[in-house]
Amino acid sequence: MESSVFIPKSVVLELTYRCNHKCLFCSCPWETTEEGYVMYDKAEELEFEDWKKAIDILHDLGVENISISGGEALLKDCLLDILEYIREKNVFNVGSSIVLISNGLLMNEDYLKAFKKYNVHLSMSLPGLDTFEQHTGVDNAAGVLYWFQEAKKMGIETTVNVTVTKLNYHELYETIANGLIAGADTLLLNRFLIGGRGITNSDKLSLNREELNGMLETAEKILELSKRIGSVGTEYPLCIIKDREKYKQLRIGSLCSAAKDFFVIDPSGRVRACNHSPIMVGHIFDKEIISNKDYWQTFTSRAYIPNSCIMCEDVNYCDCGCRETASIVCKDLRAKDPCLN
Ligand code: SF4
Ligand code: SF4
Repeated sequence: MESSVFIPKSVVLELTYRCNHKCLFCSCPWETTEEGYVMYDKAEELEFEDWKKAIDILHDLGVENISISGGEALLKDCLLDILEYIREKNVFNVGSSIVLISNGLLMNEDYLKAFKKYNVHLSMSLPGLDTFEQHTGVDNAAGVLYWFQEAKKMGIETTVNVTVTKLNYHELYETIANGLIAGADTLLLNRFLIGGRGITNSDKLSLNREELNGMLETAEKILELSKRIGSVGTEYPLCIIKDREKYKQLRIGSLCSAAKDFFVIDPSGRVRACNHSPIMVGHIFDKEIISNKDYWQTFTSRAYIPNSCIMCEDVNYCDCGCRETASIVCKDLRAKDPCLN
């Protein structure tokens, strides 16, 4: 299998559309209901035999690293078969973990034993403590913290995955600290980005500039104290960060990695540049898996830089925040990240 366009080495497999949380901030494109935005249909989900074929194709295309998400990945009944198949093939980066992103609601000991066996790095979301239920519709902060403790006992590497919104901003310190104290090895911090169901809730969730800096400062302080490292998964425009030099433990991304470092296969096999993107660019079972080459190459060649950034001295290191959020909100991939407005 070959492709006439660049295919990144890492892929995210979204195994299912289904989820047992109802997160206010969910950016899955199929959760968009607001008129005037791209509607993303849910087609039939791939089953185990299809995923085996997809994994073979990904291997042939040179993909080396696999992450798994959803929806909620634990709701996919063939999840463990897929993990076993990836490891059985023994062809992807054998030493590297398969990253699995979960909300933790269905976690149990059998899953953890399987994750240990298949060398899975478990990333569980903790969007607040007191505000966990307000964000997700489910009262399970204590459950997530418990499974971090159990994973630690079993020697499974974990990440606490915190989406920061205006509603949980006030308890960010406690949220991160509790995740790390429970045993999470690293932190993944995501600022709320407008997309999916989050479009409906953007007014109450979006952070202002002061809060965007405050969340970085809070995370850096805790990471320094706990001697851990973390990263910001949702890219920042560099010019919004007050003091870039002070972040030693927290890695803050400012270059969009969609279609360059990773890409996404949705639950029905359709290809997107990023999990945040509502634009389908092809299908894993098509002869050429990328059919919308123009859209894909806008990412691979960074042809999306806003005019206002062209003269900036940092433009080689900064893509002006999230390109897909700019596109969702302003209907223009070359618009400024909405956090700058
Ligand atoms: S490239 Fe644009 S967003 Fe990035 S630092 Fe420069 S002006 Fe700011
Ligand atoms: S589109 Fe780019 S900047 Fe936005 S979340 Fe995806 S990888 Fe990050």
